[in-house]
Order: sequence, then C-alpha cells, then structure tokens
Amino acid sequence: MAELFPVLRDFIQTQLGEVPAQILAHTWQIMLLHHNFFVDTTQQCKDAWTGVGVPEGMIPWLDESRCEACSSSLLSPAQLSIDANYLVDRDEGKFEYTCVACGHTGLIAPLMIDALNEAHDYDPRDGEEPSVEVCMQCDRATYVIYEQICLWCAAQLDYSECAICEERLGQYDQDNGGLCSYHAHTYEKAMRD
Ligand SMILES: [Zn+2]
Ligand SMILES: [Zn+2]
Ligand SMILES: [Zn+2]
Repeated sequence: MAELFPVLRDFIQTQLGEVPAQILAHTWQIMLLHHNFFVDTTQQCKDAWTGVGVPEGMIPWLDESRCEACSSSLLSPAQLSIDANYLVDRDEGKFEYTCVACGHTGLIAPLMIDALNEAHDYDPRDGEEPSVEVCMQCDRATYVIYEQICLWCAAQLDYSECAICEERLGQYDQDNGGLCSYHAHTYEKAMRD
C-alpha cells in the first residue's frame, strides 16, 4: 500500500489536475503518515546493512531485493545473524534478513544475486547476449561483462582490451596475453609459419 503512494499522488496531480489533499481529505492525511512511516522504515533498513559486510558493488542490488514471502522491500539484517557476528560476504550461506513487513527470514545473498540477474535478463531468441556471467574468481553469477568487473568480489581483468584492435576483452580472453581471440590466433599462426 505505502509503496503505491507516489503513484497515486502523481496520478491525482497529473491526470486529474487536483491537489490530493482536497480529493482525499482525511484519507490523505492517513496515507501521508503511512508514507512517511514507509520512508523512515526504508531508511532504517538501509542503515542497518552498513558494516555487516555487504560487498560494495552489491549495495544497489540489496536495495532491489524483495522478501520471498510478501515481496516487500523492507528487509533488515536478522538480529540472530548480527548477534553471531556474521558478515554477508564471509558468511553468505548463513547471513539472513528479516522482513519488516511480514517477519519472514531467509538468506540475503541469493536475493541480491537474483535481483542483479533479473535486471540483466536477456532473450537469446531476440539475438540478445548475456550481460552478467559467472565470475572466474569467486564463482558467483555477479560478473558484469560490460563493466568488466565482478560486483561481489571486485575482481577485474588483467587485460581489458586487445593490444592490436582495442576490442574489449572478457574473462575468457585472459589466457591470450592481452589479445582478442582473432589476433591471438593470427599471432600463433604467424609464429608457426
Ligand atoms: Zn515479507
Ligand atoms: Zn567475483
Ligand atoms: Zn584484436
């Protein structure tokens, strides 16, 4: 409900050309309180995740994570995980969130990784290519191809572009010593002949 608030406000203002407070009167006041409560709670949840080992690159995807039971975005670190001194990056398989809206608890790491991958979803039937793949350093599906970095472990490439044609290189080109597969092949051939 509270998450719909800005949508409703904009609808009334732009579509109906009215001031929400006039149309909704008392209801509006209640919604406003709800909304402020939602904004405050969102900020509290956000703050609660600082200092518990969320990889920096994953923070935007923490914001996109939703409760598995009720889809709320109001997730805070589970008290038990904090008391146990777990860290999200070190104790990925143990660190849990608690949903402020419904009380559900579950692992936070898969939610963040899923959120990242859902946002980078692609359809091979449309000729689209993946923009996220499994990181060769940490084995998680958190390597963003076009950014040439893993959002989880921050691993970067030794060679970011081909020394000859400047084509951007990927994780699988790194064994070519800084050449794209085409130029690595050409070079090999030249050495052989
Ligand atoms: Zn929930
Ligand atoms: Zn990684
Ligand atoms: Zn090249």
